[in-house]
Amino acid sequence: MSSYRYRCEQCRTTSPPMPTRREVEVERDRHRALAHAGHIPDGEEIKGPPANEPPGTPLQRAIVTAIVITIFVIATWVRLA
Ligand SMILES: [Zn+2]
Repeated sequence: MSSYRYRCEQCRTTSPPMPTRREVEVERDRHRALAHAGHIPDGEEIKGPPANEPPGTPLQRAIVTAIVITIFVIATWVRLA
């Protein structure tokens, strides 16, 4: 899920979406170095994922979903046995 963006108010630009905060921080450092000679522009901001996005990576969410389904199947099986 691409959800992090770097916004520079001075240049009025926003980076393409980045999948991780680490990657968008690298992009921020690159922008500071190239566009502002290493200075920190006023009003810059890292926009995080939307609040309604569930936490964790897709793999983590898949594992949690698999565990929940397994528990449900076991519970059903125990009731039927
Ligand atoms: Zn800038």
